[in-house]
Amino acid sequence: MGTYQANTRDVRFVLWEQLEVQTLLGTGRYQDLDQATVDMVIEEAAKFAEKELAPAAEEGDRVGCRFEKGRVFVPECYHDLYRRFCEAGWVNVYSDPALGGQGLPYVMLNVTDEFFTGANFSFFSYPRLAFGAGRLIESFGTPEQKKTYMLKMYSGQWGGTMCLTEPQAGSAVADIKTTARRAGDHFLISGTKMFITSGEHNVTENIVHAVLARIEGAPPGVKGISLFLVPKIRVRADGSLGEPNDVVCGGIEDKIGLHGSSTCLLHFGENGDCHGYLLGPENGGLACMFQLMNEARISVGQQGVSMSSAAYLRALAYAKERIQGTDVGAARDPNARRVEIIKHPDVRRNLLTMKAYVEGMRALLLYCSYMIDLSETRQESEEREKYDLRAQLLTPICKAYGSDMGFRMIELAIQVFGGYGVCREYEVERYLRDCKIASIYEGTNGIQALDLLGRKIGMKGGAIFSDLMDEMGRFIETCASDPELADSVRELALARGKLMEVTQHLGGLMLGGDVLYSLLQAYPYLMLFGDVMVGYMLLWQARVAAEKLRRMQEDAGAQGEQGRLALAAANPEAAFYLGKIGAARYFAAVVLPEVESRCKAIRSGERSAIVLPESAF
Ligand SMILES: Cc1cc2nc3c(=O)[nH]c(=O)nc-3n(C[C@H](O)[C@H](O)[C@H](O)COP(=O)(O)OP(=O)(O)OC[C@H]3O[C@@H](n4cnc5c(N)ncnc54)[C@H](O)[C@@H]3O)c2cc1C
Repeated sequence: MGTYQANTRDVRFVLWEQLEVQTLLGTGRYQDLDQATVDMVIEEAAKFAEKELAPAAEEGDRVGCRFEKGRVFVPECYHDLYRRFCEAGWVNVYSDPALGGQGLPYVMLNVTDEFFTGANFSFFSYPRLAFGAGRLIESFGTPEQKKTYMLKMYSGQWGGTMCLTEPQAGSAVADIKTTARRAGDHFLISGTKMFITSGEHNVTENIVHAVLARIEGAPPGVKGISLFLVPKIRVRADGSLGEPNDVVCGGIEDKIGLHGSSTCLLHFGENGDCHGYLLGPENGGLACMFQLMNEARISVGQQGVSMSSAAYLRALAYAKERIQGTDVGAARDPNARRVEIIKHPDVRRNLLTMKAYVEGMRALLLYCSYMIDLSETRQESEEREKYDLRAQLLTPICKAYGSDMGFRMIELAIQVFGGYGVCREYEVERYLRDCKIASIYEGTNGIQALDLLGRKIGMKGGAIFSDLMDEMGRFIETCASDPELADSVRELALARGKLMEVTQHLGGLMLGGDVLYSLLQAYPYLMLFGDVMVGYMLLWQARVAAEKLRRMQEDAGAQGEQGRLALAAANPEAAFYLGKIGAARYFAAVVLPEVESRCKAIRSGERSAIVLPESAF
C-alpha cells in the first residue's frame, strides 16, 4: 500500500548526462546554484513523495471529498500533510526566493511535479493550483496584489484556482458568460463556473480564484474576456480576513479518479455582492491565461508521465516476484522450477514497451521544460525567441502525447499484474483512473492537436518546426557511423523524413482550403510526431549511455557482449546504461517503422468520417 518509487536515477541521467542542464548553473540567475544542491533537492523531493505523500494516496482515493451545505471536506489525512508540505517549501520551487520560491530552474519544477504527482496527485492538486494561480499574479499582478495574495499563495497559506470552464463553455472558452460590472475600485462578478479544481475545500483558510469574465459592454469573443482575482473571503487593508465574498460551492463531481481532489461547481455573485479585482489588462484576460498555458499544459502531460512511471516501476517489481509457469523450454516437465513472470517473453515485451515510452516521454517533457529555461536565460534575444517558440511547438505534444501514452502504459502495467491489476490492493488501477482526466482538462487532447497543426507548425512560416528537424538531422548524422546505433538511427532518419513529408502534405491541404480533412488528421499527426520525438530522445540517451558503457567496459577489462552482460549483472550503473541502449533499440525497431504506415493512413484521403451523414453513424 502506498508504495511509490521516484525514478531519481533516470531524472539525473536526463538532467546531467543528456541535456547537460548544469550549463545553466553557477551563472546569471542561477549564480548561486550548483549541481550538488540541485541533486539534494531531487533526493529530498523524492523522499517527501515516497515517504509522506504516497502513504496518503490510498485513503484519499477511498474516502474522497465530502460536500455538505456548500462546504467541501477533504480526506482527514491531507491536513497535517499539507502543513508539512508547505513547511518543507515544496509549494513553489521555481520563483525567485525573494517572492517565496526556491529559485530553481523551470526544468526542476517539472522534476518535483513528477514526483509529487506520481505519489499522490489528488493531494498535490491543492498546493499546485495555489502555485499556478499565484504565477498569474506574479506575471500580471500589481505590487499590491502580489503583496496581498501571491505571497500567501506561494507559502501555501491560501489556495488558488483557475476558473475558465462554464456549463456551456468548455473547449470553447470564448463562449463564457460570467460578467463583471464596475463598482468603484472593484468589479461585481456574476456567473457559474464548472469543474473547478480545488474550488472549495477545508485545507486553507482562504482560496483566491482567478476568474475569466466579461466586463459589461466588452467586445464579443476572445477579445472581450478579462481576468479577475476573486477571493473566497475578502481581505482587509491590513491583510487580515474579512467578510465572505459571495462565492458559493454548489456541489462537487463524483469522478472516475482523483477522488481526493475537489472538482467544484462555483456560483459567483448569487447575491450580487461578489467582489473581483482586475488582473492584467482589461479585455486581455485570455492572453494572460495563455501566456501561462504552456506551463500548465506541460504539467498536465507530466501527469501521464508521472503516473505511468509509477505504474511501470510497480509492474516491474511485481514481475520480478510473481511466480507463475515455467521457462518455455521446460513447459512439459511437471517438476520444472516455477519462474518469476519476468522470465516470460510476453511480459518482458510489455515491460520494455513501458520502459521505453515512460523514459522517452520523461526526457521529452524535461527537454521541453529546459527550452523554457533557455528562453529565459540566453543572452541573445533571437536565441531566447527560438527556444521559447520551440517550447510552444512541443507543448501540445507534451500535453496530449504525455497524457494519452501515459494512460496506455498504465493499462500495460495492469496487464502485467494479471487479475491483481484490476484490484485496488496494488494501486495500478488507481493510476489508470487518476490519469484519464489529464487527456481532458487544460484543453482536451483533440484541441491540442488542432493547436499543433493549426497554429504551432506554421509559426514563423514553419521555421520553428524546420529548426527542430534540423537539430534532429544533425544528431542523426553524428550517429550514422556508430556501429552500436547505426541501424536504429536509420529508423529515426526514415521516420523523421516521413514526418516532414506528412507535415508538408497537411500544410498544403490547409493552405489549399481542405481544412476539414487536415483537422480530421490532426490527432493522428500529433501522436506520430510524439513517437518521432520519443525515438529521438531515446536514441540521444542511448548514444550517451553507449559511450559511458564503453568506458566502463574498458576500465573493467570486460570484453565483447559477454563481458558487457557480466558487467551489467554486477554493476547497477552498467545495467542502467545497457537498459538505455536496449530501450532505444527496441523503440526504433518496433515503434518507429509504424510511422511510415501511419503517415500513409493520414495521406490516404479517406473522408468517410467527414462525409457520412450523422444518421449513418
Ligand atoms: C477533473 C476535472 C478538473 C477540471 N479542472 C478545471 C479547472 O480547474 N478549471 C477550469 O476552468 N476547468 C477545469 N476542468 C474543465 C476542463 O478543462 C474541461 O472539461 C475541458 O476543457 C473540456 O470541456 P468540456 O468538458 O465542456 O468538453 P467539451 O468542450 O464539450 O468537449 C467534448 C468533446 O468534444 C471535443 N471538442 C469540443 N470542441 C471541439 C473542437 N472545436 N474541435 C474538435 N473537438 C472538439 C473535445 O475534444 C471533447 O472530446 C476540469 C475538468 C475535469 C474533468
